[in-house]
Amino acid sequence: MEYNIAVVRGDGIGPEVIREAVKVLNAVGGKYGHTFHYNYVLAGGEAIDETGRCLPDETVSIAKASDAVLLGAVGGPKWDTLPGDERPERALLGLRKELGLFANLRPAMVFDELADASPLKPEIIAGGLDIVVVRELTGGIYFGEKGLKDTDMGPAAYDVEQYSEEEVRRIARVAFDMAMKRNKRVTSIDKANVLESSRLWRRIVAEVAEEYPEVALDNMYVDNGAMQLVRNPKHFDVIVTSNIFGDILSDEASQITGSIGMLPSASLANGNFGMYEPVHGSAPDIAGTGKANPLATILSAGMMLRYTFGLMEEANAIDNAVRAFLKEGCRTFDIATRDTVPLTTSETGDKVASLI
Ligand code: NAD
Repeated sequence: MEYNIAVVRGDGIGPEVIREAVKVLNAVGGKYGHTFHYNYVLAGGEAIDETGRCLPDETVSIAKASDAVLLGAVGGPKWDTLPGDERPERALLGLRKELGLFANLRPAMVFDELADASPLKPEIIAGGLDIVVVRELTGGIYFGEKGLKDTDMGPAAYDVEQYSEEEVRRIARVAFDMAMKRNKRVTSIDKANVLESSRLWRRIVAEVAEEYPEVALDNMYVDNGAMQLVRNPKHFDVIVTSNIFGDILSDEASQITGSIGMLPSASLANGNFGMYEPVHGSAPDIAGTGKANPLATILSAGMMLRYTFGLMEEANAIDNAVRAFLKEGCRTFDIATRDTVPLTTSETGDKVASLI
């Protein structure tokens, strides 16, 4: 099969980690008989330098015409003095909006071999961890009505949390579909003891659950959810939650893994379209040194194969190659121990590609 991928290399370590993900994708293509066409497009700081805009129209139209988007990372100190809406990171919001990416998926996996990197006690994460946080990405308080007003207590500011039934329904379906491909458990996290919007959220999630009789649903208040993530993370398979709660909980979940260089993510639209990127930023402090860990981007490419192209065996091949890399004792700089010689960014890509 042939697939068209719009690729944003971005800034800092972005181009370095993308190069390795492409290497691994090509190895997958060679083994399984697929051709991946890469359409390199500009976004972020590089786009500002070349076109004056962080998200040129051409990037959006090429991304829309592609099957998926693979993104490195954008931003860096060079552009930090620009006003907020002209900064490189703004390109991410623009892409989410233009591409209709309403579901953000963040797996938090603790590989057994890297258990030492987790801040949690070994007995809590024994045997590894595998959680996916499904965060609603285009609604809720970040996009609700906001403003300033005068009150009895003086000048005030407000932001409104609002969810429509349809917004909840479509994100809940993403979570339940995902659970069907995993361990068939969904935990919906809300604040239904206080918030009206959470009560609507809970009611609609329960309705959607009826369409998936094989999946077990439980509900948790967000304060308890934050606690259980560090006390008993094995409770979770798929977590589904609102934009703001997901923002916070997905960062908490990713910290459990102990290593930002290992964390992939996906943002999905209706249908199979998605944008895939590592959770980390452009890490300007290590750009150009060969110390960037490309595994998060390589695993993001694996998610692209799984969720957009439906290539399960090929996606598993990437996950297994990363696992084999770690099992053989290979390490990158960020996860190296005293007794390992870390591999550079490109050595890591070569090694993982050879393990496909
Ligand atoms: P960051 O994730 O870039 O870096 C945080 C720390 O983690 C740094 O010490 C860095 O060296 C390390 N790190 C990150 N990725 C790594 C990797 N793959 N391998 C090894 N070490 C890695 O976060 P930051 O420093 O807060 O932000 C730097 C720039 O990136 C900023 O301009 C920020 O706005 C931007 N940013 C972009 C995205 C994105 O493009 N999605 C996300 C977050 C931050």
